[in-house]
Parts: sequence; C-alpha cells; structure tokens
Amino acid sequence: MEWGISLGYNKRAKSINIKIIRSFTIIIVLTILIIRVFINVSFESAFEKYVDQSNKSEVNHLVFDLKHIYKDGDWDIRTIKALGEDAISKGIALKVYDKDEKLVWSIFEDEKMLSNNILKKINDNMEKVEKGWNDKFKEYKGRIYDDNGKIVGYSYIGHYESTYYMENDMEFFNIMNKFMLFIALIAIVGIVIISLVISKSISSPISKVSKMAKVIESGNYKNKLEYTSNIKEVDELIYSINKLADALNDQEKLRKRLTTDISHELRTPLTSIKGHLDVIIAGIWEPTNERLVSISEEVLRITKLVNDLTNLSKLDIGQDKLEIENVNLAELVKNIVYNYEIEALDKNINIDYELKDIEILIDKKKFSQAIVNLLTNAIKYTTDGGSIYIKTYKDEKYTNISIRDTGIGIPKEDLKYIFERFYRVDTSRNSETGGIGVGLTIAKHVIELHGGFIEVNSDIGKGTEFVIRI
Ligand code: ADP
Repeated sequence: MEWGISLGYNKRAKSINIKIIRSFTIIIVLTILIIRVFINVSFESAFEKYVDQSNKSEVNHLVFDLKHIYKDGDWDIRTIKALGEDAISKGIALKVYDKDEKLVWSIFEDEKMLSNNILKKINDNMEKVEKGWNDKFKEYKGRIYDDNGKIVGYSYIGHYESTYYMENDMEFFNIMNKFMLFIALIAIVGIVIISLVISKSISSPISKVSKMAKVIESGNYKNKLEYTSNIKEVDELIYSINKLADALNDQEKLRKRLTTDISHELRTPLTSIKGHLDVIIAGIWEPTNERLVSISEEVLRITKLVNDLTNLSKLDIGQDKLEIENVNLAELVKNIVYNYEIEALDKNINIDYELKDIEILIDKKKFSQAIVNLLTNAIKYTTDGGSIYIKTYKDEKYTNISIRDTGIGIPKEDLKYIFERFYRVDTSRNSETGGIGVGLTIAKHVIELHGGFIEVNSDIGKGTEFVIRI
C-alpha cells in the first residue's frame, strides 16, 4: 500500500473522446498545412513556369505575325489592329512605328480603355495572388521588314516583367485553391467522425470496466464483467478486474472465516480454563498438579495461537530480517524431533530419520520454526499408529529437508491453496487439530526469505511429503 497518494481525480484530466478527437484534428491540420506548403512550393512554381512558357509563345506568335503587316509599300492597319487586339487580350501591348519613329498604330491610342482595363485587371489579380507583386512593364523593340528585306519600321511589344496570370489562369488557380480547401474540410470532418468512432470503441468498454470497478469498490465482489471488447488491452483489464474481484471475494471469505476461527480457537481453551478455575475457586475441586497442568496446556494453546498471529503480522510489515549463522542441519532437526517426540508418541506415531551431516547458513530460529510447522502438521494430520520419516540430503542443486508422513493426505485441488494464509483444507477435519491455517504460510515465507522453496506431494489416505529445498 502506498501512502500519500491523492485519491481524488485530476481535475484537468480530459475524457478519452476529447483527447483522441483533439490529437487527430491536430494531426490532420498539421498534415494539411504541410501539404499546403508543399503545393505552394512545387505546384505554384510549376504553374508559373507553364504560364511563363505560354506567355512567351504568345509573344513569339505575335512577332511572327508582324511580318505580314507591311504590304505593297503600305501598312496594313486592319491586320495590325486585329493582331494588337488579340495580343492585348493576352496581356501583350503592341505599338508600331515607321522607320522615322513616327507612330503608326498603338493599342494605347486605338483601344485606350480596353488596354488599360486589361492591364489593370492583371495587376489587381496578381496583387491578390502575390503580395508586393512587381508590376514593372517592359517593352522589347523589334524591326519590321518589307518583302525585299528592307527595314520599314519598328514594333514595340510590352508586357509585365514578372509572371502574370490571365483570366483563365486565375480561374484555374482559384479552382485549385477551392478544391484544396474542400479536400481539407472533407479530411477534417472525416477525421473527426473516425476519431469519434475510435474513441467511442475505446471509451465505452473502459467506462464499463470502471463501473464494474466501482461495484467492486462498494464491496460487491461476486459480480463479474461478462463482456469482451475487441481491444486486447481492455480485455486484459476486464480479466484482471474479474480476477481482482475473485481475489477480494476469497479474501473476504477468509477474513470472515478467520474471525470465526480465531474466536472459536480462543473461546474453547478460555471456556475450559474458566470452568476449571470456577470449580477450584468454589472449593469443589482441589487445585491438584494434574488440573493445573491441564490449565497450563490450554494457556499454551492460546499462546501458540497468538504467536502464530504475531508471526503472521511480522510477515505483513516486513519485520523479518534474517540473522544468519552456520548451523549443522542434522543437529537442528534432531533437537526439533526430540521436542516433539512426546506429542508423536501420544498418538503412537513413530518418527524415523536419516540425517546427513550438512552445514548450512541460516537464521536458526526462523528456519527451526518452518521445520516445526511442517513436523507438527505431520503429527497433527497423521492418524494413530502412523509414521513420520525425516531425511536431510544434498543433490546437485539443493540442500533438502524432507518430512514425509503416512497421514490423511491433501486433496489435489487443495494443494495449490494450502500455503495461502488462513487456508485449511477441510474445516471440519481440522476442528480438533486446532490451527488457523497459517503454519504453512509462515513456513513458506521463511524458506523463501532464505532463497529456497517448499515442494509438496500428497496422496489422499496414504500420506504427504513436504520438501524444503534451499
Ligand atoms: P493449520 O494451522 O490448519 O494446520 P497450515 O497452514 O499448517 O494450517 O496447513 C494448512 C492446511 O493444510 C491444513 O489445514 C491441513 O488441512 C493441510 N495440511 C498441512 N499439512 C498437512 C499434512 N502433513 N497432511 C495433511 N494435511 C496437511
């Protein structure tokens, strides 16, 4: 458990829907901007090149056609006018002078309004396309020859120096821009719809799981979330939540059973002690040695129970540092066996052992507790006349301590739970044997602290073998 964590929600936390829609929209807007910049750079320069090219070819045509404007010793004004009007519609201004530089024809004279309008329109359009457009007008002077190759005059062909777009170019340019805007809008609307669908598909299972977690939080552990999404992580979350509910349910059951067990375990010896004492105080019984020993045994039972609980709480708070020393395993086991032989003899159980002389680095007190727990279990769960066999030996990997009994055995389905705290195989069969289901929990923890583990094999009705491997 971690302390100091604020259990409130982060007020700035946003719903998954908003987060996804926001991120997707940012991505698409950035993409559109990048495409836009790319198009500006690549498309517009290609378009400019094309427009330049076609404007140049218009000028070339005009220059070619000017060869036919001086015929039979005179200017063909009609043709000049036709060419000049056609040229101005393409942004090109034509002026014709004779060989004495006297004006023959000029679009600015003949079609003053039209030419000014067209050139102004081009200028206005270009201002819109390109801020600070260079509106310098440039004129090129060319010679005009008669049929004999004699110079008869000069042509002045003028147009804007920078690239300029005519009406149809502008139209194409605007359509392209509108088209791109349209695509961008469609993309944004599309992406908002897609992100809504995606976020919904993620958020709705998550909110189902979170509702389920709230149900669990309220203590309703039996509920299960019978739902599968199509998202692996969410399914894993549902699976974990269900597992958590199961675990909490088990814990709850254990807790309830523990309360009953502990009160039962305490009440039985206390009732017996009180009964004995009441009768002795009333003067009905003499406080004989035998009766006092019986009272003392009951007190011992309570002490053991309290000790078990103390050991268990030490596991919980991690107060279990090892005090390692070099110990002779054979001697340690032998001493333990001596202490419990009487208990075994009371049940007519024979304890045999085969102990190798092994030196081992352990916390003597704690390690002994683990062996004692296994041995007292073996005695507890072996019927009268049975036997217990203890062996210590080394193999390539481990030092082993095996405690085998010919007792009642443990059902296969219970084997995986017996090391859990407060787990008892069959409460009814344990009622006379005492214990609250923590002996194996403590033993397992102590052995694991030493870097080892406990294995168990059992045959119901035949017996059980616990092996400490370290
Ligand atoms: P308890 O205090 O009930 O003995 P333990 O944690 O020591 O608790 O053991 C858990 C359960 O495992 C016991 O209740 C018992 O049913 C079973 N068990 C442990 N050791 C043996 C054994 N040697 N033979 C049969 N059953 C055993």
